[in-house]
Amino acid sequence: MIKITIIPGDGIGKEVMNAATHVLDSLELNLDYIYASAGYECFQKTGSTIPDETIKLTKKTSATLFGAVTTVPGHKSAIISLRKELDLYANIRPVKSYPGINSLFKDLDFVIIRENSEGLYSGLEDYTREGAVARRVITRRASERISRFAFDYAKKTGRKKVTAVHKANVLKKTDGVFKDSFYKVGEEYPDLEKEDFYVDATAMYFLTKPQIFDVLVTTNLFGDILSDEGAGLVGGLGLIPSANIGDKQGLFEPVHGSAPDIEGKGIANPVAMLLSTSMMLKYLKMEYEAENLEKAISAVLKNGKVVTPDLGGNYSTMDMAREVSKQIKIQN
Ligand code: ATP
Ligand code: MG
Repeated sequence: MIKITIIPGDGIGKEVMNAATHVLDSLELNLDYIYASAGYECFQKTGSTIPDETIKLTKKTSATLFGAVTTVPGHKSAIISLRKELDLYANIRPVKSYPGINSLFKDLDFVIIRENSEGLYSGLEDYTREGAVARRVITRRASERISRFAFDYAKKTGRKKVTAVHKANVLKKTDGVFKDSFYKVGEEYPDLEKEDFYVDATAMYFLTKPQIFDVLVTTNLFGDILSDEGAGLVGGLGLIPSANIGDKQGLFEPVHGSAPDIEGKGIANPVAMLLSTSMMLKYLKMEYEAENLEKAISAVLKNGKVVTPDLGGNYSTMDMAREVSKQIKIQN
């Protein structure tokens, strides 16, 4: 039995998590779900947005499925705490088109890998007499670590090219370190093509010729912005999955939040959560099942009938989950 932590969270987080476990059940895997709490409701019950037991549990299991949490103003964010505690330094966001989705591009399949532990989001911000200043920390250790992660990811997933994104013409020292680390580590991967682009040019190419990309690796802020731009190329919030990976653990979550406006209606799109689940299975080396799940989701989207209102349908979250399960059975 492989143990995984399940943190449904708040709002539609809980609803899409029910969809995910329903579909996981239909794959008949040897998985043991251990539920843990975090978020707003958890705060109301326990006084903490992320109790120690939850953090301990995630450290004991190798993978965590995370729904979504509602922020409690003035209290630490559950997801940011988990990223720190588990040192989940790599954020992976696939940018992939699925047939049946009304999106800007129909032919995209690339991956953005964002450094998630330092950069401009290191939290080193101070007021000064003139205003304020934030420090952008770029270390060789973290730059080499994320580059190696990107190259290994490319190799493992049969991709051909890794593009480093930076702004080393202006941020000469910090992005100089990032770029040099990328090419240094790249020497260990002679079979992969390497290139680097400035972030501003990359933002434009996303709109003009996104088909050129395969795997991108970049620093925290640039990755944050490009990931959302990438999401905009292939569909709405309800579709986009993500993975947060460290050396020991992985945490998988939809990009969307808890969406209180549609909570309790049973109409949240489960696809982002289901694709995150597929990413988790791949991480757990259940490649066959991961692909099976993705194919089933893709088939349901392509068919376009049993889909939630955000995709133009009349069906509920669980209807869509059941349809994905049905599709899995058909494929097998
Ligand atoms: P957070 O504060 O965590 O970002 P949020 O309420 O702003 O939470 P978002 O995820 O940012 O939620 O989503 C913005 C809006 O997009 C939601 O209010 C909802 O209407 C819509 N939305 C988000 N996710 C989904 C989904 N899975 N299915 C359908 N609609 C969604
Ligand atoms: Mg939001």
